[in-house]
Amino acid sequence: MRATRRARLGALLADRGMDAMLVSALPNIRYLTGFSGSNALLLVTADGATLLTDFRYATQVKTEVDPAVEVLIAPASLWAELWRILGARPSIGCLAFETAHLLHHETQRFLAAGAEGARWQWAPVVDLVEGLRESKDAGEVAEIRAAIAIAEQALGATLPLIHVGMTELAVAGELERALRVAGSEGFPFETIVASGPRSALPHARASTRVIARGDLLLIDFGAIHHGYCADITRTFVVGAPPTDRQREIHALVRESNGSASALVRRGMRGRDADALARDYIERAGFGEAFGHSLGHGIGLEVHEAPRLAKTAEAPLPPGAVVTIEPGVYLEGWGGVRIEDDVLLGPEGPVVLTSFPRDLVQL
Ligand code: ZN
Ligand code: ZN
Repeated sequence: MRATRRARLGALLADRGMDAMLVSALPNIRYLTGFSGSNALLLVTADGATLLTDFRYATQVKTEVDPAVEVLIAPASLWAELWRILGARPSIGCLAFETAHLLHHETQRFLAAGAEGARWQWAPVVDLVEGLRESKDAGEVAEIRAAIAIAEQALGATLPLIHVGMTELAVAGELERALRVAGSEGFPFETIVASGPRSALPHARASTRVIARGDLLLIDFGAIHHGYCADITRTFVVGAPPTDRQREIHALVRESNGSASALVRRGMRGRDADALARDYIERAGFGEAFGHSLGHGIGLEVHEAPRLAKTAEAPLPPGAVVTIEPGVYLEGWGGVRIEDDVLLGPEGPVVLTSFPRDLVQL
């Protein structure tokens, strides 16, 4: 599978008249080779790939990296090793690099090295590997499903522990513990636990706020399995039955989520997918209160292409797994968001998340 990915990248490079690509983004390196460490560079050519890493990963590469990939343990810096390799490969004339994933000082360094050697030319590219990553293969979908199962198991274990008088941070702590126990390798982003009026902050960090009776409680969190992410949001009410207003806003968000999840299709432009939920919320008079985009791809990163947003012209590719996460946020009152993970399958959308979406009283 990884050999196929590298071959597809090689074909893209050939189309552009490029001889090789320096891949520096770690998720892209993992996608192409299997390597999950924190320090690596990858050189991909038409006929092979060379991974550069350091001594700390000398054992790990043996189990993780596809045997068809040449592995070099750099004695000093990865960059010094890269210049040495490039010097020994006169066939590389035009070398692509990832503009979105190099620091300015690294870019300056290798532009200077290129000028000194004056043999190869640098070609800036954007989103070449990210584009390949948008369509998930069956193995990747299985990893995402496993991450979702871990996340849902952890949320189920956490809800009975939540009560009036707890801080948001304490709720986040219980949830993160449950995620670890259920097998999550980590947290794809800082767990969002927002209660009462703070639930109107779409990206609130968990705080020391004490949860009060009747508060809305918005929890947005994820799990990681074999590097692949889940991303889920549910909103609850704590210690009292929901008010009419809470029911009304929750029902609106739930219906817009359900309708967008059912209607989103591969091939649809990202902006048209976004409109599926936005039009619904606008018709109900809450358009101003839904200020973020509808969703994003998930995979080796929790936010990756494609985007489901007002400004996204690109069509949604087949096999993408995207979030559908409409929300309504009313300053001073609170907010509701419901987020599901959806596979854009050949027969239509497949909602991978199954945790109940009701406005449950905790
Ligand atoms: Zn989320
Ligand atoms: Zn999300």
